[in-house]
Amino acid sequence: MERLIGVDIGGTRTRVGAVWEGQILARRTFPTRGLVEVKEAVAEVLREVGWERPDAIGVGAPAPMDMRQGLILNAPNLPHWNGVNVVDGLKEAFHCPVFLGNDANCAAVGELVYGWKAKDFLYVTWSTGIGGGVVSGGRVIWGVTGQAGEIGHIPLRPEGPRCRCGKKGCLEAIAGGAALSDRALERLGERLSAAELVEQARKGKPIPLALIDEACQAMGQALAIVAELLEPEMIIFGGGLTNSWDFLGPKVVEAMRAMSRLRPRVELTRLGDDVGLLGAAALPFHFPEL
Ligand SMILES: [Zn+2]
Repeated sequence: MERLIGVDIGGTRTRVGAVWEGQILARRTFPTRGLVEVKEAVAEVLREVGWERPDAIGVGAPAPMDMRQGLILNAPNLPHWNGVNVVDGLKEAFHCPVFLGNDANCAAVGELVYGWKAKDFLYVTWSTGIGGGVVSGGRVIWGVTGQAGEIGHIPLRPEGPRCRCGKKGCLEAIAGGAALSDRALERLGERLSAAELVEQARKGKPIPLALIDEACQAMGQALAIVAELLEPEMIIFGGGLTNSWDFLGPKVVEAMRAMSRLRPRVELTRLGDDVGLLGAAALPFHFPEL
């Protein structure tokens, strides 16, 4: 099983690639729409690399899902995918096994197979939202329905801000990019992106700095909790906010170390923006028995 297709459905962009031994031989990136556009892109990359059909297709998506059926459930940020059976749709079109998994867990698979290749680590996506995937003893921890590793929804402040998941005070509601942007609007009266807020914090502006420090403190606390639970060798970060890692990383690591006895290595993904795509392509090798 080596002629692999990876599909990384993101909130904004979808990436499709033909992957051979960890190399992306052909790729398409386009604004996220639905199954039709993914089928077209898969057909295009297959034509480009000259494969009649792939050995397997792996798909990662940021959505609640039924992994056994290959069905995306209610996904507010992916309106074209609600109730879509991804596995049936792609199997019918390309006549090969198809696997669907949570995007952050797919990224963890990518790091395991093609990235740092550690055996015990936590992968964290830090962008608009916060996702995570856990690898322990060289195996992905999927949980009962494939949603394990959701570090973004660890409740840290029971009276904190409301999270998109409906609970209060989740890590994502304090440190996620969307939450930071919301806080900026509340406290500064202007809608800033998380990246803009970081730039203001760098300049030492008090409110942005306080918001960023609070976010890094919360991230460090969540990492300390996970570290104590799993004793990972590494914690690996990816996602848009890691573009500001020189500023955020030291704050996060300092906060974690203040709250944990353990000292896992903290690194950025080795696979850059392709971590989700490569992880989806390798998903067939790490799919759980459900
Ligand atoms: Zn939540």
